[in-house]
Amino acid sequence: MLKSKLTNTFTEILPGDPNLENSRRQVLEAVYSFVNPIQTSNPSLLHVSKEMQEELDFSDNDIRSKEFLDFVTGNVVFPNSKPYAMCYGGHQFGNWAGQLGDGRAINLGEINHWAVQLKGAGSTPYSRSADGLAVLRSSIREYLCSEAMHHLGVPTTRALSLSLTGDEVLRDMLYDGNSAYEKGAIVSRVSPSFLRFGNYEIFAARNDIKNLKTLVDYTLKTHFPELGKPSKDTYISFFQEVTNRTLDMIIHWQRVGFVHGVMNTDNMSILGLTIDYGPYGWLEGFDFGWTPNTTDRQHKRYRYGNQPNIGLWNLYQLANALYPLIEDAKPLETILESYKTNFETKSQNMMRLKLGLAKELDSDIDLIMALEHNLHASETDMTIFFRKLSEFQKEHPEDGIQLIQDAFYVPSEIKDTILSQWNQWFLDYATRLKDEDTSYDQRREQMNKVNPKYVLRNYMAQMAIDKADSGDYTLIDELYQLLKKPYEEQPNSAQWFAKRPEWARHKVGCSMLSCSS
Ligand code: AMP
Ligand code: MG
Repeated sequence: MLKSKLTNTFTEILPGDPNLENSRRQVLEAVYSFVNPIQTSNPSLLHVSKEMQEELDFSDNDIRSKEFLDFVTGNVVFPNSKPYAMCYGGHQFGNWAGQLGDGRAINLGEINHWAVQLKGAGSTPYSRSADGLAVLRSSIREYLCSEAMHHLGVPTTRALSLSLTGDEVLRDMLYDGNSAYEKGAIVSRVSPSFLRFGNYEIFAARNDIKNLKTLVDYTLKTHFPELGKPSKDTYISFFQEVTNRTLDMIIHWQRVGFVHGVMNTDNMSILGLTIDYGPYGWLEGFDFGWTPNTTDRQHKRYRYGNQPNIGLWNLYQLANALYPLIEDAKPLETILESYKTNFETKSQNMMRLKLGLAKELDSDIDLIMALEHNLHASETDMTIFFRKLSEFQKEHPEDGIQLIQDAFYVPSEIKDTILSQWNQWFLDYATRLKDEDTSYDQRREQMNKVNPKYVLRNYMAQMAIDKADSGDYTLIDELYQLLKKPYEEQPNSAQWFAKRPEWARHKVGCSMLSCSS
């Protein structure tokens, strides 16, 4: 089955590292190094994404076969697969970090134009001081979240399968000197491409313009053919397109309350897809200052409200990397400038949709800002608030607070001044809705298409992880099924339309995550 499916256009077209040893090193003048996955001792398949199974043309029989298990755990390298790890660099937390690369991701080739990659299949020349492995907890998080994001309509890399390796992996989860063994796991990830900003930055940083051009031309030809043949103008259009896609992706994150957690340039997809699900989290109480990543606790560089700025900062780094091919800063600067104005417009329009407003009025900005202030000041659950708001009746603004009562985390602590600000807001919202031509039902339907009912709340993923650690994998499938239809009511799953329980407020994995995956 796999023999006829796999192609290797990436490695056939692009220059590779002539050194075939799996030793950690600086790799020059190459986009990738060939490297095989390590053997796992007792692999087992925990879950397969039905959509990706179909996308890659695997039958139900196929996925039950030993061949499939061997494939998605890297236990067998099929004769027509030439596994490889990519060389890339990156700016981490604002500083150039030099060569990083796929330290624990091994690419197997392409199926139906989808690149397939195993995360956690062993070390590569880019593993630096780490082991190339992944633990079950972070693999469940990546597996469930990347599929959930797709169903939310957020551009993302996908996942085909989640497997256990049968091996144990040593991790210091909180970086506090308490290491423990955890179950090893592998996610097979799928994407049209796993190229990141860092793939281009590494060549520019090394002044290897020849290979920079080779990689950019390959990217254009393979992933942006509509932009035309490589030329300076096409490179500029390419940068414009990556800028647009990056902005659109981040607007989607803001819409659903997703915080990536590690927006380093090595985690920015050149296709504008959400990539590398590590210490990400979902907003519960609405808070622009929130980040789930404890490693970033001090500066909160990657906090929710800063994601759009960081997207721009990262695009500056990409612009610098592409500059040697364009040799004219002006058009790049113009594009970067336009990101700011486009962000304002797109972000306001996104918020209008969340509020069920079809018309664009200047005063909407004040309404939106007042709302954001209230949401924050009263620790209000973002998902529950917007979903319940679709039931708001403009004839009864006085019922507004009661309507969203379930979204307040600590109702007894909300001060009277905040409550009166809420009342004022509902009055203003009711007035504003009178400018709209839509009926109650139309507005409700439109709002429920952009305000999900179900997201992968941090504690939900953690519950699936805790159960899985004790050998019960059923919640993985339950959440996977639930999150396939995030905008639908699903009355049988109403228990997941609830605030984070108090036990999860300060629990590791629920509100605090580190990069130790
Ligand atoms: P991240 O910020 O998690 O995307 O990872 C940053 C860099 O560290 C990438 O080059 C990863 O491949 C590498 N890395 C992270 N975890 C491991 C690991 N367990 N083994 C080897 N490399 C890793
Ligand atoms: Mg990464």
